[in-house]
Amino acid sequence: MARSPIWASRSKTRGMVLDVIRAARSISRVELATATGLTGATISEVVRELLGDGLVVEAGRGAPTGGKPRTLVQLNPPARYSVGVQLERNTCVIVVVDLAGRPVARTSFQGVASMPPERALPIVASQVDALLTTAAVDRAKVLGVGLVSYGPQDRGAGVLLTPQPTEEWCDYPVASRLAESLGLPVLLDNDAAAAAIGEYWMGAVDPRSTYGCIYMATGIGGGVVVAGEVYRGSSSNTAEIGHISIDVHGEECPCGNVGCLENYAGPSALVRRALAIPELARRLALDPAADDFLTEFARIAAAANAGDPEARELVERSARYLGHAAVTVAVLFDLDAIVLAGQSFAVAGSIYQAVIQQELDRRLFARRAHPVRVVPSVNGADAAAIGGAVLVLQSELTLGIGRSEEDARLVAAGAAGSP
Ligand SMILES: [Zn+2]
Repeated sequence: MARSPIWASRSKTRGMVLDVIRAARSISRVELATATGLTGATISEVVRELLGDGLVVEAGRGAPTGGKPRTLVQLNPPARYSVGVQLERNTCVIVVVDLAGRPVARTSFQGVASMPPERALPIVASQVDALLTTAAVDRAKVLGVGLVSYGPQDRGAGVLLTPQPTEEWCDYPVASRLAESLGLPVLLDNDAAAAAIGEYWMGAVDPRSTYGCIYMATGIGGGVVVAGEVYRGSSSNTAEIGHISIDVHGEECPCGNVGCLENYAGPSALVRRALAIPELARRLALDPAADDFLTEFARIAAAANAGDPEARELVERSARYLGHAAVTVAVLFDLDAIVLAGQSFAVAGSIYQAVIQQELDRRLFARRAHPVRVVPSVNGADAAAIGGAVLVLQSELTLGIGRSEEDARLVAAGAAGSP
């Protein structure tokens, strides 16, 4: 597959200018020159090119600052789109976002992860096609697809390195096969890292801050963002807090470690504990044979919200464990804030937020130096899918700052259909 022509015009300077315009919402050419350190002549040339390509539009005049009023430019959101696909163990969420990162269409469906990838990926591709058609999005304006899933994964090769949900997914070239089915570039990334960068993009966090994300859906993941960049480590398998050991004598986890946090604090652990309390299981009508334990988990969370003491105790116990992990990540990275993202915070998020905040306030090494704020994700339960789409946009827009060249290389590799 040929590389998308949209990529051909990308340059570092252009990416940097576009990102500054995005972050400022509306800005004059003079302010752009100050913000980027580029000359007025360069800014004029780049802005002329961006106007010509329809990526930005003129947006009236700013207040005069002594001289004549300055014409402002702003992003043109419908000029480009990207797609985020989140593959969860039970659910697949697809979103289409515009150039400003705002969702314009969404769908979700169940069951693909339990199929072999040869069957599942064409279904995902047809759902993406259907969503683009429903939203009346011109395919020529779609930059690419951010496919996000749990780890461990080989981001560069676009493959998952885990036998979950089934052995067939391990080492399967998910990114290149989806790219072939769709005829669009596909970038593979970690769901928690994607959710974390989505917060930055939506302006929900101070762009200079160092913050972490605790992501909880079926499993528990994490991400750390430093000055607008996902901290990648050596292989992009960072901050996997669900697999921090909290008991060296604990049971072996499928990941290979023992006593992993996920097996104490995650939704499946909570459902197991609730089922072991016959009175509670009966009261909440929990189904011990349910495939989708997230539904059973949501019942426990709803009961906790409603004041059921046993359900509340279980949720608080899970939150306490997450607080323990939050303290660990905050100590390692000296975080300013922790964002809670993912569908498993959707029901009892306020209980989790309060308990994790308490743990940080009480136990954090640097608590006398500064607080660490715990906040819910602005992108709600779709944070990972939206973040996946944002990672594709970011690889186009922020190339100039030099932090996303690897992302752009991977998207381009996906465009070329390489494994
Ligand atoms: Zn583990």
